[in-house]
Amino acid sequence: MTLNQLQTHFLSLFGTHAQGIADAPGRVNLIGEFTDYNNGFVLPCSLGFRTQVMFKQRDDNVITVHSLNYPSEHDSFTVHDEIVAGPSQWGNYIRSVAFVLQRAGHTLKGADLLISSDVPQGSGLSSSAALEVAIAGMFNHIAGLALNNEQIALFGQQAENDFMHCQCGIMDQLISAKGESGHALLIDCQNLATSAVKIPDDLNIVIVNSNYPRKLVDSEYNQRRIDCEQAAKKMNIATLRDATMTKLINAKDTLTVNEYKRAHHVISENERVIAATNALKNNDMDALRELMSASHQSLKHNFEVTVPATDGLVEICQEALADRGAVRMTGGGFGGAIVCLCRAQDVALVQEAVNTHYHARFNLHGDIYVCTAGSGLTITTLTD
Ligand code: ADP
Ligand code: MG
Repeated sequence: MTLNQLQTHFLSLFGTHAQGIADAPGRVNLIGEFTDYNNGFVLPCSLGFRTQVMFKQRDDNVITVHSLNYPSEHDSFTVHDEIVAGPSQWGNYIRSVAFVLQRAGHTLKGADLLISSDVPQGSGLSSSAALEVAIAGMFNHIAGLALNNEQIALFGQQAENDFMHCQCGIMDQLISAKGESGHALLIDCQNLATSAVKIPDDLNIVIVNSNYPRKLVDSEYNQRRIDCEQAAKKMNIATLRDATMTKLINAKDTLTVNEYKRAHHVISENERVIAATNALKNNDMDALRELMSASHQSLKHNFEVTVPATDGLVEICQEALADRGAVRMTGGGFGGAIVCLCRAQDVALVQEAVNTHYHARFNLHGDIYVCTAGSGLTITTLTD
C-alpha cells in the first residue's frame, strides 16, 4: 500500500494525519536453529516483507489501534492503568509491548495507530516479532524513551515471553530491530554482539512455507528447551554455549538419549553458523550447501523438529537445485518453512519443483516467497 493510501485510511479512521511510521521487517534464519536460547550463534536476515505502524500521539492516555490485516476488529486500552489481556487476539501484541515497557518504569503516551503489513502470518517469517519491534519503536519515539535497537528488541522478546507466553529466544526481535539491507546478521546470543555479513548480490533467498498444520508446537518447543538445560546442568556448564563435543562425549553416560541428541545438535550447529558465515562472505555455494544440509539432518535426527512435509520440501528443492543451491528447514520446526539460497536464474527451478511435486506428495500447497534482505527498524516522521 502506498503512503498516500495509508494516510487516507488513517485520516478516515482518526480524523487527523499520522505524524510518523514505525516500520520493522520479518526475518528468515539462514542457519543456527535452536541455538539462540542456548546462548549460541545465529545467522538470520531481515526481509523486504515489513510491518508498518502509522502513529499519531494523543493528548490523553488511550491507545486505539486498527490493523488493515484485521479490518473488522480494533482494540483500545489505557496506558497508565495496569495493562491486562483484552478480547482481541492480535490486539494483545500491542498491549504486551506497552505492558513490558511500563513494568520497566517507562511512562507511555496515548496514540492512534494503524497497522499495515505484508509479512505473512504464521509462516515462520516472524510477523509477531516485526509487530512487537515496530510497536516498541513507536512508543520509544513518541514517549522519548531513548532506547537503542537492542533494548527495543529485548522488550519485544519480553512481551512475547511474559505476556503472550511464548518462550522464544532473542533472535527474531534482534534481527527485526537491527537488520541491515542486503546483509545477514551474525548474532552472538551470549552478549548480543552483531556483525553484518553481506549477502552476495547474485544470491537469492527463497522461502517455501509448507502450510503443514502445526500441532503441539508449544509443548514440544518447551520440552526441547528443558532437554538442553538439563544437558548443560549435567555437564556442569551454564548453557550449551560452553559445551564441546569432547565434553559431551565425556558426559554421555549421565545424559538421557534425548539430552545427548539435543546437545549434539546445538554444539554442531554453533560450529556450522561460524563456518556458514565465512562461506557466505566467500560466496562459496558448495560450503553453504553442505552446512545447510548438515543443519537440516541434525534438526531431523538429533533435535527431532522436522515433519515429513518439511523433510519432503527440502528433498524436492535440493534435488531441483542440485549443486546450484543450499536448502534447509528454518524457524521453530514442526512444520513451518524451508529456506533455499540460490542464484537468481535458478529460482524458477525451485518454483517448478514445488509446484510439480509438493502437492502431489503431501496434498498441501506450498507458498513460495522470493525475498531480498531489507533493513531493520526505521522510524519516519511525516509532515502534514
Ligand atoms: P509468526 O510470528 O510466525 O508469523 P505468530 O503466531 O508468532 O506467527 O504471530 C502471528 C500473530 O501476530 C497473529 O496471529 C497476530 O495476532 C499478530 N500479528 C502479526 N502481524 C499482524 C498485523 N499486521 N496486524 C495485526 N496483528 C498481527
Ligand atoms: Mg511469532
